[in-house]
Amino acid sequence: MRCIEEKILSSYANDELSPTDRELVDAHLAKCADCREKLAGYQGIRQRLESLRDGVTAPDATTAIISRIKSSVSPKKSAEVGNGGF
Ligand SMILES: [Zn+2]
Repeated sequence: MRCIEEKILSSYANDELSPTDRELVDAHLAKCADCREKLAGYQGIRQRLESLRDGVTAPDATTAIISRIKSSVSPKKSAEVGNGGF
């Protein structure tokens, strides 16, 4: 069975395919779990990008993202220091 090219899957996730191409992809997805998984990955990336874009327009959300980044960075740093310090 021939699988859908990743290029085409990402276009499908972005709604960039013609109706004919979408039908072909749909038909393949109905039979192929691998391609469904890949597509879910592309759709997940897209949703994450969209939610980030939404967050940037709201100042509160931006602050929340920055503080989340800070809190996720500092434990890593201290872990590195702990490992390297012996
Ligand atoms: Zn496939």
